[in-house]
Order: sequence, then C-alpha cells, then structure tokens
Amino acid sequence: MKGLLDGLVALSGLRDREGLDFALVSLIATTVLAGRASVQLVQAVGQPQDLRCLVRARLRPGQEMPDQDKVWADLSRLPKLSAFAHRQTLLATQRYLSRGEHPRLCLFPVDARGSSADSLVEIACERSLTPSQRRAIEHVVQLFQNLQGLLDYGEKDPLTDLLNRKTFDRAFLRAAAAHSDTAVPGVPERRQTHDHDSASSYWLAMIDIDHFKRVNDSYGHLIGDEVLLLLARQMRCNFRWSDQLYRFGGEEFVVLLRCTGHPQAKKILERFRLHVQAHAFPQVGGITVSLGFAALRCDDTPSTAIGRADRAVYVAKGQGRNRVCSYAELVTAGELSEAVAQNEEA
Ligand code: GH3
Ligand code: MG
Ligand code: MG
Repeated sequence: MKGLLDGLVALSGLRDREGLDFALVSLIATTVLAGRASVQLVQAVGQPQDLRCLVRARLRPGQEMPDQDKVWADLSRLPKLSAFAHRQTLLATQRYLSRGEHPRLCLFPVDARGSSADSLVEIACERSLTPSQRRAIEHVVQLFQNLQGLLDYGEKDPLTDLLNRKTFDRAFLRAAAAHSDTAVPGVPERRQTHDHDSASSYWLAMIDIDHFKRVNDSYGHLIGDEVLLLLARQMRCNFRWSDQLYRFGGEEFVVLLRCTGHPQAKKILERFRLHVQAHAFPQVGGITVSLGFAALRCDDTPSTAIGRADRAVYVAKGQGRNRVCSYAELVTAGELSEAVAQNEEA
C-alpha cells in the first residue's frame, strides 16, 4: 500500500507525456504486480482502415527501465491491430478483458487523449489478477487519465485542439537532442526500439493563411474562427500522426516534422498546400496558405529555427502567396542572406 501511494505521488508530479507513460507501466508492473508480469501501454495509431499497434511504454520482468517504440517509427512496420483480436475487442467495448493461459492477458481501456479511446494497458501474467489488484490498476489508470487531461488543458489551443506555443519550446529541445544525439539537461534519455529511420532529420514549417484579414472583414470573426478550426483539421489529416502540429496564435501554424531530407519535406508541404487550395471551406469558399520551412540545426534555439522558417514565409508572401518556400533554397539562390539571417536571429 505504501509503495503504491509513493508511486501515485510521484506520478502526479510528472508533467511530460513520456514520463507519465513510463511511470504508469512501472507503477503497475513493480508495485501492484510485484515485478512478476509484463506490462505495456499500447496505442492504436494510423488511418482507421489500417490501424497499427504502437507501444508507448513497456516493462518486462527483470527489466530496469521501460522502453518504447519510437514515436516516428515507420507506421507500416508496426504490427497491425487486426492481428490482435483481444485488443480490438477491448477498444470496441472499452471494458476490462482477460483472456488465455500462459500467459494470461489482462487488458484495461485507457482514454489517454481525452477525446479518443484508442489506448490500453496490456498485462501478461501467469495467473488471473486478484480483485484487489484489478481495482488498484483501475485507480492508477484513472489517475493517469486525469493527469493527461490536465496536460491537454495546459498544452493545447482551445479553438483548434492543436498544441500551443508554450508547448513548442519543450518539444523543440527534445527534438534537437535526438537530432544531435546529445543529451539535453532535464530531458531524460530513454531506451527505444524500432529505430528504423535514424537517417531522418527534423524540419520546421511555418504556415500562414493568405489574406486572412479579408475573411474576417467579409464574413465576420466567427466564420474566421471556423476556418481556423477546419484548417487545423486539414493539418491533422495531411501530416503524419507523429508530426507535431501547433497553432502559434492568430492564423499562424507550425509543423515539426521528421523525414528523410529536403526533397521529402518539400513534397509533404507542397501536398498540404495543394490540399488546402482544393478544399471548399463553407461560406468562404477557397483559401490558400503560404509556407516556409527550414531544417533544424544542432545549435538551434526555438527562436532561431522559427526565424528561418518565418523569413521563408515572408518571401513566399512577396512572391505572390500560395506557395512553399525553402530557407535553404532561398539562401542558395541568393534571395536570402544567411549572415543577415543570423544577425537578425541574434
Ligand atoms: P497575409 O496574406 O499577408 O498573411 O495577410 P493576412 O490578412 O492573413 O495577414 P495579417 O497579419 O495582416 O492579418 C492576420 C489577421 O488574422 C488579423 C486578424 O483579423 C486575424 N486573426 C488573428 N487571430 C484570429 C483569431 O483567433 N480568429 C480570427 N477569426 N481571426 C484572427
Ligand atoms: Mg500572419
Ligand atoms: Mg496571414
């Protein structure tokens, strides 16, 4: 009981999602189940017709620290949800489920994102859980969900449900650390599996709606807000689920994406631009966006990286809007000066 209380207190002090995931499986595996079971937090990710199982945290008996699948893992390499009938049943029913022998699998639903019931805790053990173990786990999961809700509240933009500006700096530091393979103080290193695309790099794209003031002036602020909401939805459909999407306030959005290089980053952003251009927004009709993007550098701070993407957006606006501009290409073409950029950033 004391171990459990200590664990719950520690859990409630955490403020980052990965930390919470790891603490959840550790607490269940080591404290509730005394290290005799394997515990994992699994999330169904991807398109509804091709859902995959991502392990957000896993602790096996004898393992000291939990591990996880890389969040940017190539989705097609993750196991299909359809290969796990018990997981499918649990996600459909949202009810505790226990199946099989050696191991016996015990599954608990987890509502980890507030709005979507796509996660579960899966326990593989030798015998069924006792009623008191089951109750304790349900309480731990409930606390975990409450804490996730608090994180959402502080990290998300209420209009679009995208991440907010405040959350950006922290995610940025973590990405920069992974990118440069150096540890960042305060950002714990974690053992990870499924490292399929270590050659990939991070890119920051800034998206600015073209002539958005006209939308507000012609149709009113409420319709303007509706456009922002719909654009956020377009972003969710277009970018990969592991890309991080932000609203920086106003009609400016940022995507932190991981991909294999400049051509791929440009292709992804160009595809998004075309998608927005082709979409019919209710009442307003068509809108367009201008995008600027830049690669993250090891020595970047959030503002230096944003500064480069911002300068590329500025050029895109000047060239007539509704286009994607690459900072690197603009520098190579002599349209932006790297030295000036650095001075300005400083
Ligand atoms: P440009 O193509 O140069 O980007 O032109 P623009 O009109 O989009 O840019 P500008 O920066 O001049 O205006 C941005 C407008 O965005 C001003 C404001 O009316 C609108 N805006 C900012 N935040 C919000 C919001 O939360 N809701 C709504 N409806 N409008 C917003
Ligand atoms: Mg703007
Ligand atoms: Mg604008």
